[in-house]
Amino acid sequence: MSQTLAIIKPDATGNGKAGKILALLEEKGFTVKALRMTRLSEAQAGEFYAVHAERPFYGELVEFMTSGPCIPMVLEADDAVPALRDAIGATDPAEAADGTVRKLYAESKGRNAIHASDSDENAAREIAFFFSESDRITTAG
Ligand code: ATP
Ligand code: MG
Repeated sequence: MSQTLAIIKPDATGNGKAGKILALLEEKGFTVKALRMTRLSEAQAGEFYAVHAERPFYGELVEFMTSGPCIPMVLEADDAVPALRDAIGATDPAEAADGTVRKLYAESKGRNAIHASDSDENAAREIAFFFSESDRITTAG
């Protein structure tokens, strides 16, 4: 078992799809190990997506991620990082496979419902960004 970070993004919390997304992730076999709702500041969103700071969509991305509440969560599964990337689908919902979170719930490449860590190293960094050790359920169940 390993862990990864997902964030239900402001488009999905705003249009009432957060519960359906969480249910779908549980159906796909992920176990929730930590979860909270927060509204990111501009500084927090900028830091979280600092790797994209030079990209043309960075300003739009930070504006979107601060536009409403988001729900970061720690998810556990076998090979959690690639498993969650498979479950959420391609960045652009038009290219996402059937049954994926983005195919079902994303509006566009920018407003795409969910984030997932892209490596074990980034998962560890991103989990620590949102959760302290005591927030995370480490015992069985
Ligand atoms: P995330 O990191 O949110 O899980 P991802 O790994 O599929 O998404 P990245 O390439 O890391 O995609 O881009 C981060 C986020 O930036 C995307 O989820 C999307 O919201 C936004 N983004 C990426 N490319 C574009 C684009 N061309 N136009 C607008 N927004 C974009
Ligand atoms: Mg990414």
